[in-house]
Formats: sequence, C-alpha cells, structure tokens
Amino acid sequence: MPQPKGNQQGAAVIPGEENCTRQDGMRVRGAPYISLVIPCLNEEAAIPLLYEEAVKVLDEKEGIKDLEFIFVDDGSTDSTLNQLRKYAALDKRVHYLSFSRNFGKEAAMLAGLAESRGKYVVTLDADMQDPPALVPEMLDAVRGGEYDCAATRRVTRKGEPPVRSLFARGFYYLMAMVAEISIVDGARDFRLMSRVYVDAILSLEERNRFSKGIFPWIGFKTKWFEYENIGRSTGYSKWSFWKLVSYAFNGIIAFSAKPLAIASVLGILFFLASLVLISGIVIKKMAGYSVNVDGWASTTCIILFTSGVQLFSVGILGQYLAKTYTEVKRRPHYIIREAL
Ligand code: UDP
Ligand code: MG
Repeated sequence: MPQPKGNQQGAAVIPGEENCTRQDGMRVRGAPYISLVIPCLNEEAAIPLLYEEAVKVLDEKEGIKDLEFIFVDDGSTDSTLNQLRKYAALDKRVHYLSFSRNFGKEAAMLAGLAESRGKYVVTLDADMQDPPALVPEMLDAVRGGEYDCAATRRVTRKGEPPVRSLFARGFYYLMAMVAEISIVDGARDFRLMSRVYVDAILSLEERNRFSKGIFPWIGFKTKWFEYENIGRSTGYSKWSFWKLVSYAFNGIIAFSAKPLAIASVLGILFFLASLVLISGIVIKKMAGYSVNVDGWASTTCIILFTSGVQLFSVGILGQYLAKTYTEVKRRPHYIIREAL
C-alpha cells in the first residue's frame, strides 16, 4: 500500500488541481503557515473540543487562517474516524490519516510530521492537556528566528497517581545517569517547530523511536515554556503503567549502551572476588591449616546469585539484540488505511 515514507516531503501541488487527491488518499495541498499534528487514539469526545479551541485561538483571535490540521487516527475503536471524516468535510483545512491498527503515539506523531507542510509545525495531544492557547506565545519565540523549537514542560505532576510520579522521577534520574543526551524532566511532546527542525526529526529513520530523546539529540536552540499539569478534557489516559515501563526501557535502550557494560563490570568484580577467595584458601592450606567445607547452603546461594546475575546480563544483551532485529527488518513505521 503506498504511504508517505518517514522523510518524504510530500507530493508537489499541481496548479489548478489543489483539491485533487493523491494516490494514498490524502488531498494534495500547498504549504500553510502552521500545521497542527494531533495523534488520536479513541478521542471521539476530545476532537470537537480541540478543533473548536484551536480555531478560536489561532484563526479567530490571532487571525491565522492559513493553518492545517493533521489528525492521525492511531487505530481507534470508537467513532474517532467518523469525527475526523465529519470535520474534514466541514473544513478543508482538516486532514486525517487513519492507521490500519494501533501503532503507538510515536508512529502517529511521525506520520503527522511526515504529512505536515507548514512553515511551523505544532505537535499536541487531542485531550487539551496541551493548551492551544499557548501556541501564539510559542510561535512568537520561534518566528523571531533565534529559536527553532518552542518546547513545553510541566512543572507539577498534580493529578497524577503518586506511584506513577515516583517511577517517572526514577526514570529521569536513571536516564540522566546512563544516556548520552540530557532529557528534560517533565518535558511534553507539545512543541512548536520550524520546518528545518521537523526535517531533522524526519531524517532519523530508526524504528525504535523515542521522541523525548530524539529532540535533544538533533540539537537546535529550544525555548522552554513551563506550565502546571492540566487534567484531560475528556476520556482516559491511553498509557497503562506497564506500557509506560516498556516505553521507559525503550528509551534507555535507544539512547544508551551503558547497560551493556553492566555485564562486563559485574564479570570483572566476580573474577576479582574469586581471586581473593582462591588466594585465601591457598595461603591457609600452605600455612598448614585445614580448609573445611562450610556446607552446601553457602555454595547453593553463590551459584544462585551468580547464575541470576548471568541471566540478567544475557537478558540485557537480548533486549539490544531484539531492538537491532526490528531495526534491520526495516518494516514501515505504520500502515495507512485511509487518508484525506
Ligand atoms: N495516543 C495515540 N496512540 C497511543 C496512545 C496515545 O495516538 O497508542 C494519543 C492520545 O489519543 C493522545 C496522546 O496520544 O492524543 C497522548 O495520550 P494520553 O493523553 O492518553 O497520554 P497522557 O497524557 O496520559 O500521557
Ligand atoms: Mg493526555
């Protein structure tokens, strides 16, 4: 099935054929001033609120008529796609991509960025946790030319379950220790980016995508905006605890090779420990003392401990191997079933 590739810049606009449809179903369109990229998984109730708020803030208040919405339906099972069809019919600035199944938020954001044509591109959640009212301020920062990205971070984790906050903090702490890049605590995916910044993101073709790491990796000057955590407008969070844990592991594997060194470090430590013990026994024996065997309990504990460490190390190796396997298969990041 033809679909936009990760770093594809899109079809050219043929004069007089602005409203024709591309082979993959997407309307052929020109370059607007701002593209809003919105990943959606079961957001039927949130879409109207977001659309209306964005139109109010950007079009009516700021007078920016030249905008496009790129909604990405990430395999929703509710009527999200119908909502998108409805809004696309009402407003020609609304476009959508609908995936053949759920490919995850990272894939949805990538698809939206690859489809965006705007001079400036904003990525935001459908649930109004990323307030469109902040966009004009972010735009001012990037429009000046000094910055290529306006990023946001939440300064509180109010309203979040305490266990989740604890793990999130643990993750950022761990990441700071092991990763080659610095990841900002509380950074959200709500960003306004210049075209050159978006193209840099799209030039990274890795399958194991971790945006929180990709943003600092590509560099550029970023202006930070801080705000208090805002609750969802409607619906529920699509991130289960285990989905977040696996996301955190993916991030560590994608941006650090340090866990691989754990096996070597532990191996050296155990080797040194064994040398000390062996020397002790030899010296004792040479000095004429009898070396008595302490029994099987201590031996069993040592065997269990070392084999546990070995399996743990093999497991880490396996994780990197598995990620390498998905990279070399080079499967598409997502498959589009319908687009407009
Ligand atoms: N989302 C998605 N695919 C997924 C999970 C989430 O497109 O597999 C979208 C979701 O519809 C929302 C955004 O990503 O627009 C953020 O998700 P959510 O609000 O559930 O996450 P939270 O804000 O709780 O971190
Ligand atoms: Mg949310």
